[in-house]
Amino acid sequence: MLTRFAPSPTGDLHLGHAYSAVLAHDAARAAGGAFRIRIDDIDGSRSREEYVGASLADLTWLGLGWDGEPVRQSARLGDYAAALDTLRARDLVYPCFCTRADIAASLSAPHGPSGAVYPGTCRDLTAAERERRIAAEPHCWRLDTARALAIVGDLIWEEQGQGMRTADPLAHGDIVLARKDAPASYHLASTLDDTAMGVTHIIRGGDLIAATDVHRLLQALLDLPTPLYRHHPLIFGPDGKRLAKRDAAASLAAMRAAGVDGRALAADLLTGRLPTGYSLQMP
Ligand code: GLU
Repeated sequence: MLTRFAPSPTGDLHLGHAYSAVLAHDAARAAGGAFRIRIDDIDGSRSREEYVGASLADLTWLGLGWDGEPVRQSARLGDYAAALDTLRARDLVYPCFCTRADIAASLSAPHGPSGAVYPGTCRDLTAAERERRIAAEPHCWRLDTARALAIVGDLIWEEQGQGMRTADPLAHGDIVLARKDAPASYHLASTLDDTAMGVTHIIRGGDLIAATDVHRLLQALLDLPTPLYRHHPLIFGPDGKRLAKRDAAASLAAMRAAGVDGRALAADLLTGRLPTGYSLQMP
């Protein structure tokens, strides 16, 4: 068994991150397996090096040791580009020149699990027009989800202990695989990384359950193995809202500074015991 914890270095880790890391770490250790860290740092404008060190220090404070060096997404851009080339060669991705405002203004854009569903404006541009605009305009690359799904057929994945789930990638529309401002999207990078790192069990927050629809499709297209999944409840704060990186009181750094025993906290989280006022809920 190999599990992972994949923080984005865009802020301080909070109690919810600790819960996720503790579950993934414990599952691996209980099975005599490995636990690895991935740093999701392809978002150059939001990632900060200081949060990489701070996140690793938080994990150490919790008593969670990891195997090998943390993997950095920023060091794996070549892999993401290669996968995109493969999909491009199969005519499964297309350049999209729309701005957020263009998409928001489109009356036909319904809402899907990952925001507004792209209305497909750029899907049917001619090859000549694509080439002309690629040279002149910022663009992202989108997956032609319907075409991809027609190739791979029905997709299922296993939610550990709860049986098989049917993936519904169409509900997400034509998702972005390479962003205007970053060489890969979370979906593409995470799917490729999990295979490259040998992850067998993905243990992560229930907010990402819908993302699994997309990851399962990418696995099928790129001939990657499908891990087992376990999506856990999230921690909600005393205000009844899901914890966010801006909630300073729930940050692990604040708890550490206040003299909280990290190992005792990790042991409590493992059994679902939370500090007063916090609760576990599926989003
Ligand atoms: N960096 C992602 C996050 O913090 C990781 C998601 C995942 O575990 O796949 O949400």
